[in-house]
Amino acid sequence: MPSHIRSAWFRTLGQLAAVLVLAALLGLAIGQPWPVLTVAALGVVAWHYWRLRKVLLRLTARERLRPGKGDGVWNELDRLMYRGQDEMRARKRRLLGILRAYRAAAAALPDAVVVVERNSQRALWFNKAATQLLGLRYPDDLQSPLGERLQPLSLSHWFAAGRNAEPMLDAASPVDPNLRLNLRLIPYSDEYWLLVARDVSKLLHLEQVRRDFVANVSHELRTPLTVVHGYLDMLDPADFPEWTPMLAEMQKQSQRMTQLVEDLLTLSRLEVQDKLADDDVAMAPMLATLRREAEALSQGRHAIVVQDEGGLDLHGSNKELHSAFSNLVSNAVRYTPAGGSITIRFAPEGAGAVLSVRDTGYGIPESHLPRITERFYRVSTSRSRESGGTGLGLSIVKHVLNLHQARLEIESQVGLGSTFSIHFTAERVHPRAMGYANASGMGHAELECVRDKEK
Ligand code: ADP
Repeated sequence: MPSHIRSAWFRTLGQLAAVLVLAALLGLAIGQPWPVLTVAALGVVAWHYWRLRKVLLRLTARERLRPGKGDGVWNELDRLMYRGQDEMRARKRRLLGILRAYRAAAAALPDAVVVVERNSQRALWFNKAATQLLGLRYPDDLQSPLGERLQPLSLSHWFAAGRNAEPMLDAASPVDPNLRLNLRLIPYSDEYWLLVARDVSKLLHLEQVRRDFVANVSHELRTPLTVVHGYLDMLDPADFPEWTPMLAEMQKQSQRMTQLVEDLLTLSRLEVQDKLADDDVAMAPMLATLRREAEALSQGRHAIVVQDEGGLDLHGSNKELHSAFSNLVSNAVRYTPAGGSITIRFAPEGAGAVLSVRDTGYGIPESHLPRITERFYRVSTSRSRESGGTGLGLSIVKHVLNLHQARLEIESQVGLGSTFSIHFTAERVHPRAMGYANASGMGHAELECVRDKEK
């Protein structure tokens, strides 16, 4: 027990003893010691009850306490209660200060921030930017259900997805359709979620400018290139024997430039597309075409194997899927030294399907794999140039696959070869209609025979 409490306690006991001794003396003086002593004891008890009542009343009234004056345990209790209340007030002030600072910071954010109650999906708090970007008004929209309030943004199924909700990368603001928003739902506790909306109009505009620029430049380059290419084709090396190697190089380079421009245009086209043709992609003729293309490119330097299993076809854009598959096949041929083999396989995988292109070529070091589908990313620039690559092939593959909700998987070992697999979901796959020829244009049995020979 601290010393000041102990001394207050002894003082109170001392006062009690003094009262009782005085009462006893007075009682003895008037010849009635016990009644006087009893009255004095009752008086002391009553006084203590009165002090207790005072404390209770003060606590109940939640009034501001005053520091106790004098000594004794009741005054000490008053002092302690005053100190406790004072400390609590200071803590509250500090917490309020922190809360205000947080709110001010959140209010000053350029992004719209809305605290949403999870079950009711009502807005509990939002900042100023939420008024500008989402049109929420204070105080009318506090407690309003966000799904309805923020129409036409379709938030309901997004809220239903909860923790798995994917960010909405480009959504029109309910205030102004020209205002493009990036929306994220952040479930920061079991009860409350944070809806964050960012204005990405400028960014999207810049992206659009970049896209238009690339598309326009490529388009403008196409005509002069066609002219140069045409005249070069007209020149007969036999007429200029000393120019033969230069002419061949000029033709090769103009061919490369034409391919580059075509690839850039393909990419520009794919970037602006968000929906594709939904053709029935017959895989038997597709695989037969891929085989022909591989053979033409390989010029007999590689063994080309096609495996067509499970009798499946795809839904999607025939043209774009062909472009993606053919990029993988052409890479396999170009990055595999003569004598190697290329296996193109289309087979069921769970409820979906997988198209894989396996080669026994140079392979790709693992450190390059994460960036390999970026534009102009090459493992070896000289090898890519030598092989006639533009550095855009895998970028095109990635874009086409995104549009088909398909996934690219790459396995590779340096010196042993690579396997590029495209995984299609069940929605993209359907059984092949009867009567279609398979990949080689032959019957199944015949194909098996060829495969056996190839093995
Ligand atoms: P490129 O036109 O240069 O081939 P791609 O985008 O098609 O461009 O490929 C990017 C890079 O990935 C290539 O430069 C090459 O280094 C590497 N690559 C792609 N496919 C293969 C493969 N089958 N084997 C080895 N390396 C490959």
